[in-house]
Amino acid sequence: GQVVRVASPSSAMRDSLLDLGIEPSWPFPPHLTNVERETLAQIIKDWASGHGLVVRPPPTAIAAEADPNRIAAVPAPVTLFPSGIARHAFRKGLAAQKAYNELYAAVSRDEKFLADIVKQVIDGDEFVRDLWAVHQTVKSEGYTQSLSLGLFRSDYMAHKDTSVLPPFDQLKQVEFNTIASSFGGLSVRAAQLHHYLTKTAYPLLQQPIVEGTLDLPENKAIEGLAGGIEAAYRAYGDAQPEHTKCVIFLVQGDERNVWDQRHLEYQLAKSSPTIPVFRLAFADILKNTTLAQTKKRQLLYSSPINQDAKYEVAVVYMRAGYGPDDYPSQQAWDARCHLERSHAIKCPSVLTQLAGTKKVQQVLATSRSENEASILSKFIKDDTPSATELWKTFTNIYPMDASEMGLVARKKALDPNQCQDYVLKPQREGGGNNIYGKAIPDYLNSMPESRWGSFILMELIKPEPQRNLILRNGQIEEGNVINELGVYGACLWDQKSGKILHNEEAGWLLRTKGDKSEEGGVAAGYGCMDSVSLT
Ligand code: ADP
Ligand code: MG
Ligand code: MG
Repeated sequence: GQVVRVASPSSAMRDSLLDLGIEPSWPFPPHLTNVERETLAQIIKDWASGHGLVVRPPPTAIAAEADPNRIAAVPAPVTLFPSGIARHAFRKGLAAQKAYNELYAAVSRDEKFLADIVKQVIDGDEFVRDLWAVHQTVKSEGYTQSLSLGLFRSDYMAHKDTSVLPPFDQLKQVEFNTIASSFGGLSVRAAQLHHYLTKTAYPLLQQPIVEGTLDLPENKAIEGLAGGIEAAYRAYGDAQPEHTKCVIFLVQGDERNVWDQRHLEYQLAKSSPTIPVFRLAFADILKNTTLAQTKKRQLLYSSPINQDAKYEVAVVYMRAGYGPDDYPSQQAWDARCHLERSHAIKCPSVLTQLAGTKKVQQVLATSRSENEASILSKFIKDDTPSATELWKTFTNIYPMDASEMGLVARKKALDPNQCQDYVLKPQREGGGNNIYGKAIPDYLNSMPESRWGSFILMELIKPEPQRNLILRNGQIEEGNVINELGVYGACLWDQKSGKILHNEEAGWLLRTKGDKSEEGGVAAGYGCMDSVSLT
């Protein structure tokens, strides 16, 4: 077997490296014959079902008829080959995570800072207003749980810095997620799939990739995220007499990304088999839980299969509640308030959810570009190696308010010759909410100016495309793709004292999308799962 090393014909950068005598070490996905494609597709499709790299199919009318009991699972879209990521960039991304955990724990604890953030977007954003109201209500009677759990994910794209030779990839942060950070489960499976293929199918190709030529880092996202839940469960302390401590996974009733979540449950069952874990739909919170009539207001769960068993909820892990769709009525807000009032450790609390808004990211990033006395040092020790890497991941983000900087941003956003370099973001999560480039001016003009301040304007990061193949719904798509690296963090802290009880980098995620596609959400149907091959 001979290793294939071909420069991507579309990559001028790679050519210039070759000119400099530096040989790109990444063996690009070899060109496949039709038979090879079909064979790989078959292997991947079966491996995905065999190992839980799957999602529930969308509830179309045809699917409803063929599968009335919703038992089907289908392979998640995934690349045929791992994507090349610069080793140093990958390492630095992981290295920044502990500082990011600390930073967002500190932001969550700074009620004044968050109040100011909320004030800046509240006129155009009822969802943020309602979240803040939940915090105000609970604060007025007093929080009874000072521990807070964050299962975070910091997302990046690589910006090619060409001001130095050889040019290098600097990770720039797309966003920071503090609620329902998903795909930890499937990302581990995608990495395992590519690892499996390097041992089996890749060496057999006509242009073989010999085992050992790909450097595939291990992905510990499942253990890392479950480890955070376990740490919180232990730190909760004892339940009331005659009660059994449990963990709740709070989910959406019509969730399709079920196995991503299940992998975390299976991990808990493996590493902590004594922890009862229940899945509870957001809409059923008030039906299945009550608050104890005590000073602590413990959250009590009644299991539908055994009404006599008494469970006390130590940790509520939220994979729902991050967007307005989960709050169709006042009752849903009452339910969120009910959880927040309880003694259960929330992942996340309302304040931590608010810390994850794009407005917070913008304010942190703006302070850097303005070269203000570092706002970072207000929150964390800013001279650690981890904080140094964190700082480098910030990119240009502007307010859209009526401040001096906001007015400059508004001009860029409305200018047909400048807007293509920006993305306009509301304070929303879950994909499909942003407005890109040329669509920004019309979008802004469709609403009163008084709402503009609830958005932020971010420079588009333009990573270099690479070639790959995607298997989606049994079909292979081939072309140029771009990658988004997510780094997970698990952090447990005391909201009052600031003491950090658990702080870990918790694995990674690589998502890939066609280079012409704007959004890259796998759940939203635009992107696909991938894994890292270090170059
Ligand atoms: P959400 O919280 O809905 O996931 P994101 O800020 O992550 O919102 O944006 C969704 C997607 O849009 C990202 O996954 C990425 O593909 C794309 N995107 C967002 N910001 C940028 C940016 N600054 N440059 C390039 N692409 C971006
Ligand atoms: Mg995102
Ligand atoms: Mg997000």
